[in-house]
Amino acid sequence: MDKPKLKLAVYWGAACGGCCVSVLDVHEKLFDVVALADLVFWPIALDIKYKDVEEMPDGHIDVTLFNGAVRNSENEHMAHLLRKKTKVLVAYGSCAHMGGIPGLANYTTKEEIMRRSYFDSESTVNPDKVVPLTEFDVPEGKLTLPTLYNDVRTLNQVVDVDYYLPGCPPQTERLVDVFMAIVTGAELPPKGSIVGARDKTQCDECLRKKTENKLVKKFYRPWEIQDDFETCFLEQGVICMGPATRSGCGVRCIVGNAPCRGCYGQAPDVTDPGAKMMSAIGTMIDAKEPEDIEKVIEDIEDPAGLFYRFSIPGSIFRRKLFKNEN
Ligand code: SF4
Ligand code: SF4
Repeated sequence: MDKPKLKLAVYWGAACGGCCVSVLDVHEKLFDVVALADLVFWPIALDIKYKDVEEMPDGHIDVTLFNGAVRNSENEHMAHLLRKKTKVLVAYGSCAHMGGIPGLANYTTKEEIMRRSYFDSESTVNPDKVVPLTEFDVPEGKLTLPTLYNDVRTLNQVVDVDYYLPGCPPQTERLVDVFMAIVTGAELPPKGSIVGARDKTQCDECLRKKTENKLVKKFYRPWEIQDDFETCFLEQGVICMGPATRSGCGVRCIVGNAPCRGCYGQAPDVTDPGAKMMSAIGTMIDAKEPEDIEKVIEDIEDPAGLFYRFSIPGSIFRRKLFKNEN
């Protein structure tokens, strides 16, 4: 008798949609996947309602790829629901893994975000100061919207996660490898593992030329200098997150001549990406006097955003605290 097909679900929380597109990117491998698995829930592609998921028995779904951070009540509800209905819950992509780009909202407040979006942005025309309401009465009944939270959270800050597949988005080849391992019953790594990545740093795999003890006098944004296409970005004065970032993506930005931005998350021996980058940069500054050092550091535009571009909710900082918050 044929082996029963695996039941697969894909869900997006606070995300841009890139992770869902990366799932579609399996191209012809989709036929292998479809031969082995039934997609039972995927809001971007299938018209299956939340109530259909609620009616599924607990543990009915074999694998859920949950992409996106948790930043509103709907994301949170779905995280709990899918956890209950799923045997293997995978945090798929940087946002579910570490908070990702939506996690940068943890540097501000939801009031500030609403004010900027609905009143102050250059393209907004809103003379009546209309803002989205979580409940609105219409003749047909009550319309509801999810509640936006002040705090963006990673998936594992909300529910128990079995595996993490990092990247913005994860590489499709890695997804297929992981999926095939689950389908074929190959030995899976221990629960909580980061799969589809390696235990080194990006620098360990990068082929750009490195010189020991190279010092820099000035830092630049990538567009401010002409890359020589062969020397380490940091040594050219361009911030690259390679020293702090886990490898496994095939140094894909660097081979495309762009510095790493850290989407695979911190490397295994790195406790905090910002601290690691500050220590890496601290050893490279060609200045001795505190005011000269400060001047060099000031060239680094938005270090908090740069060092934690994908990781602020999952980092030891978690978020910026404002008055009246705790
Ligand atoms: S800092 Fe970036 S460019 Fe330099 S070696 Fe590391 S990964 Fe390569
Ligand atoms: S090089 Fe860095 S930013 Fe680019 S995909 Fe790899 S980990 Fe992500």
